[in-house]
Amino acid sequence: MSIHFDSTGMKKYCSSNTCNWCDGCGDYGIWTAIKRALVELQIPPSGVLLCYDVGCHGNMSDKLMGYRFHGLHGRVLPLAAGAKLANPNIPVIAHGGDGASFSEGVNHLVHALRSNYPITFILHNNANYGLTTGQASALTWQGQPMNSAPNGIPENTLRSMDFVFSLEPTFVARGFSGNIKQMVEIFKAAIRHRGFAFVDILQACPTYNKFATHEWLMRHVYDVAAEGHDPSDFAKARQIAVDTSERISTGVLYQDAGVPNFYERLVARQGKKAVPVEEVKKIDVSEFMRGLV
Ligand code: SF4
Repeated sequence: MSIHFDSTGMKKYCSSNTCNWCDGCGDYGIWTAIKRALVELQIPPSGVLLCYDVGCHGNMSDKLMGYRFHGLHGRVLPLAAGAKLANPNIPVIAHGGDGASFSEGVNHLVHALRSNYPITFILHNNANYGLTTGQASALTWQGQPMNSAPNGIPENTLRSMDFVFSLEPTFVARGFSGNIKQMVEIFKAAIRHRGFAFVDILQACPTYNKFATHEWLMRHVYDVAAEGHDPSDFAKARQIAVDTSERISTGVLYQDAGVPNFYERLVARQGKKAVPVEEVKKIDVSEFMRGLV
């Protein structure tokens, strides 16, 4: 099969830096899928902002081209939302892990969902803190021995999808790091979404996650599109997102494109033609300063 590379093709996203994830890490699949999705949407590297949290996934920040920002632990969402406010003309994609997103930065996730910021959030969900050698996260299965919790975590595992749906999201999808083709379609739909797109990617971490392995995930996931799921049905979407007892639903689970996003509801920006970055200019404050002395 021949592959045609046009001016916005995959080669444009290639970085000379070598990936250093462990063999079999699901980050390789997500890294490939996000580049492919951007190419298929005909978005060149100069037309996207990719933001990264701290974590194994954050090592992606110099493994592909594009405008990139590697932020502080748990703080990827506020910096991504701020960047989008400064320049709403380009898509902003934020990546975060399950550790930071559901512990250190969980407050930011709450407000991103209720604000419906027009950004895409890709959750690298490997159910542990891989970068810090396999500590348990809020999404680690209860009772599962981890490096920081050899007897298993005493807390309940956070029911992440129930939590997300309780905040009235406008876009929820779930993918699996072993299914690049499906991830590409999910990422494209998320990037095109009008508001906040929450994308949960179940990511294999062969080094520290010995329970939800690549093989285990392959046996449990199914594609909701193949079963005729209607993504406008909130109640059904929530039910199939939360109930993972026997099978795990993947694909676009829920979408409501009719809800205005945060910036569309921002009264101070209504009717403005320029974006805030274009409005930044030198202002002579000497008159003001004289009044202070
Ligand atoms: Fe990937 Fe896990 Fe290795 Fe991190 S520790 S690079 S998540 S396999």
